[in-house]
Amino acid sequence: MQSQQGGLIGAIEAGGTKFICALAQVDGTILARARIDTRTPTECFPEVTAFFRAAEVDHGPIAAFGVASFGPIDIDPASPAYGTFTTTPKPGWQGARFHDLLDPFDTPFVVDTDVNGAALGEWLQGAGQGARSLAYTTIGTGVGTGVLRDGRSLMGFSHYEMGHIHPAHDRARDPFDGVCPYHGNCLEGLAAGPAILKRWGTSLDHLADDTDKLDLIGGYIADLAANLVLMHMPDRLIFGGGVSKAPGLIDVVRRRTAARLNGYVSHPLLDAGLENYIVTPGLGDDAGIVGAIELGRQALSR
Ligand code: ZN
Repeated sequence: MQSQQGGLIGAIEAGGTKFICALAQVDGTILARARIDTRTPTECFPEVTAFFRAAEVDHGPIAAFGVASFGPIDIDPASPAYGTFTTTPKPGWQGARFHDLLDPFDTPFVVDTDVNGAALGEWLQGAGQGARSLAYTTIGTGVGTGVLRDGRSLMGFSHYEMGHIHPAHDRARDPFDGVCPYHGNCLEGLAAGPAILKRWGTSLDHLADDTDKLDLIGGYIADLAANLVLMHMPDRLIFGGGVSKAPGLIDVVRRRTAARLNGYVSHPLLDAGLENYIVTPGLGDDAGIVGAIELGRQALSR
């Protein structure tokens, strides 16, 4: 079966525990899909290659790849280290390069971060549809934010690291020191899943009846939300990831963000109560692979 309108796209959502690989048509239709456990690159890259080679035999040649990956990773196309993992503590991954995986296919590819990929997926098919600019934040094992404008992720000399800003930390209310190995009480150190587990011994969705705890974590996240508004003025803020699923948390984030901004930013997009402005994802776990396919489209058009 050959189906090559515009060429086929190889999409990879590279996560800390699993790689989701998909062969897709340009319109996004997925023709083949696999889940490969993340181990060292020497262990899992050959399995990724084998999947795509087999998929090419079944469906036709791949014209471009899109990769949405965990990091930190160099995502600057002008950099000689493009697609190379930088400071990750994950064994075997520091210095690993997606070039080593993808060069043998001799096709263009685009590498971006996992959170930028999820942001793209939500923009295309989820809760970000219709937004010219948006910020997608994941709050789970870590915290990260991707900011898009017109369907392109923004960066500086490297990808953003907004999970490591410092929210206001009242130590009388929350004496917890935080768990970030670099900063202690940055947002990730105070509000990501491991911080909640270490502080209270369980996950936030088991603490949803405890309004003080929900308010504390929601307040930290609201500091990021307010800063995102002030620094990027996105059309919409999306909050995903495991911690964000705690019942009632998003309502706290909305309320505390409005309190932080205190009426200073006035725009029709900032609705009363922020219910249309601060939202949860529409795609769930598929955002990453949908975004990776879009990165493949961008590679095709380069
Ligand atoms: Zn940090």
